[in-house]
Amino acid sequence: MTVSRPGIAEELRGAGLRVTAARVALLETVRGGDHLDADAIASGVRARVGYVSVQAVYDALHALTAAGLIRRIEPAGSPARFEGRVMDNHHHIVCRSCGVLADVDCATGEAPCLTASDDHGFSIDEAEVVYWGLCPGCSTAGGS
Ligand SMILES: [Zn+2]
Ligand SMILES: [Zn+2]
Repeated sequence: MTVSRPGIAEELRGAGLRVTAARVALLETVRGGDHLDADAIASGVRARVGYVSVQAVYDALHALTAAGLIRRIEPAGSPARFEGRVMDNHHHIVCRSCGVLADVDCATGEAPCLTASDDHGFSIDEAEVVYWGLCPGCSTAGGS
């Protein structure tokens, strides 16, 4: 969905990060993709700027996640995925069979969209929910 924007370098700088071609390409790849894993992101970065080591990709993913420019999702039992949609407290639905993952908007539109039955005195600002099930393709395949 996202095309290359000159603003990406500014965003990196604004987040206190050094601007490198690999980081710009990585942010473009993550934003243009749909919950990609690190391997897919590495391919996307290489398609844009040529060879970048796996370690450099992991380092950049870590830096951009820590800076809040991308979000890391870690469904149990599958590799971490990354996305450019941050700060809106949306949730995810994951297929138990094939691992496909989709966004589920926050039920109430603002964080935290769930009320804890016991907040333990915390001031809660986020709720992260993962819905699990079978995607349409997998439920059809297993159905008959
Ligand atoms: Zn599936
Ligand atoms: Zn998402």
